[in-house]
Amino acid sequence: MKVSEIRYERIGIDEICDSMERITAKVKEAAAPGVIIGAREEYVALLKRFLTASQLSYARYTQNTADEFYRREKDYYDEITPRFQSLQRDYACAMLESRFRGELEKELNPLLFALYEAQKKSVSPAVISDMIEENRLVTEYSKLMAQMTFDFNGMKLPLPLLRKYMQDDSRRTRRDAYEALGEKLFEESGKLDSIFSGLVRVRDGMAKKMGYRSFTELGYYRMNRISYDENMVRAFRDGVARGIVPAVKRLKGRIAASMGIEKFMLYDNDVNIPGGNPKPVRDKDGIFREAQEMYRDMSAETAKFIDMMTGAEAFDVESRENKWGGGYCVCFPDYGQPFILANFNGTADDVNVMTHEAGHALADYLIAGTRFAYDLPYGAETAEVHSMSMEFFAWKYMERFFGENAAKYKFCHLADALSFIPYGCAVDEFQHIIYAEPELTPKQRKDAWNALEKKYRPYLSTQGMGYLSEGTRWQYQMHIYELPFYYIDYCLALTAALQFLGESQRDHAGAFAKYLKLVKRGGEERFPVLLAQAGLKSPFAEGALEKLAADAEEHIRRIS
Ligand code: ZN
Repeated sequence: MKVSEIRYERIGIDEICDSMERITAKVKEAAAPGVIIGAREEYVALLKRFLTASQLSYARYTQNTADEFYRREKDYYDEITPRFQSLQRDYACAMLESRFRGELEKELNPLLFALYEAQKKSVSPAVISDMIEENRLVTEYSKLMAQMTFDFNGMKLPLPLLRKYMQDDSRRTRRDAYEALGEKLFEESGKLDSIFSGLVRVRDGMAKKMGYRSFTELGYYRMNRISYDENMVRAFRDGVARGIVPAVKRLKGRIAASMGIEKFMLYDNDVNIPGGNPKPVRDKDGIFREAQEMYRDMSAETAKFIDMMTGAEAFDVESRENKWGGGYCVCFPDYGQPFILANFNGTADDVNVMTHEAGHALADYLIAGTRFAYDLPYGAETAEVHSMSMEFFAWKYMERFFGENAAKYKFCHLADALSFIPYGCAVDEFQHIIYAEPELTPKQRKDAWNALEKKYRPYLSTQGMGYLSEGTRWQYQMHIYELPFYYIDYCLALTAALQFLGESQRDHAGAFAKYLKLVKRGGEERFPVLLAQAGLKSPFAEGALEKLAADAEEHIRRIS
């Protein structure tokens, strides 16, 4: 079935309430563990239906944010999701308190119970109206950004199209594109500040109502973090500042010298080679054709996967007015069908969609039929291992997309990956600061951002860039508004993906087999265990980041 033909059907809140109450009662009143196992299956079926409906309506809304019908449906799920989460919490508590818990852990998976603990701590009936308000603010931000257009060279461009010029070969074009960006953000800064202040206020309020010191603790539970805590993440960031920032500084120094740039500016940061980053030598259809060949060659599983995706027309990649500006992959569980949305703009990012987002889709596809796919989902860090590792496994095929510039592409990709890690840590530390001190003014928040830029990207200047020099780069980093504390996951995942890169250079087939095995485990192991099973080093291990930086530098030397 084609994705566009999947019939959307709203799932009513009354039905959800009735079903969840019945399922939870069964768990509580069960006279034998078998009854609870049966109740759990009913729960998973309901969860799948809910996810299918809400993700389908979300996907259709993002395909056209001006569509009245799906906008209303999205508002509907914004409103009922917190109530569903609260009912899920009741179910989780019943499972945790069951007198058959020992038998259930054995029959199911002990990690499921660790997740129930997190669910229990992540929501409370007392904060449902706050969660609805939070969702409303997130939607307001996402609408504001989707409908924002930037005046550039006589054109009015949405952000995804402006981004193309933000990484143009010509330094002047890049600077002008950033100027257009800064001017518009400045124009909207009142809204950007007030939406963010609203989000911080409502998140902090929820945390305090639930008895937490700050939103950070609650934010970790909401991310279902069962594999690492705030202290481990802090130690990781410190390790990045110590081990990776100096390597990136050296690398950026070399890149700046090769491009004849004396003062390295924010608008130079996305260009790595004189003459500009390589662009795909194929158009959209060509990229799809080559991607299909690539996945057919990679393995039997990926061949089946890409044929399924193509047959279902599970991609929407053309940039249009009113289309949401980012890229993502979602899954419609009742159909085992992933869907990818992106905004092609003629840069290397287009190819990354076919590797990164397709890596997510492959994972959804491979685990769709497994027992714990939906009530024991993998964490965001694991999801990004699926996608970012695929970007590197695809290196073998880059001639298909970049022709004679394939080596240049690899250099840029690796340079970007390595320099992303410090940026991701800045985004993460920023959020820790914001929620530790929720009373900061907009100006103080921006100053905090600028201080983090100095710590994590000391090689980069925003001097003379107007609004963007005022510590505002984070205002178009949508995760900070929409998905609090989802960002460090990219950094953690990259450390695994880079190890897969090293291994795939020595033995592609062997490394890919380990990768597939990891993907198929889904969320059934803790993150460090998944890594260990694949023979990868944990990013939390002593010295791991220094080793990673040294390997990456060595690799970059070899390919440049
Ligand atoms: Zn991703």
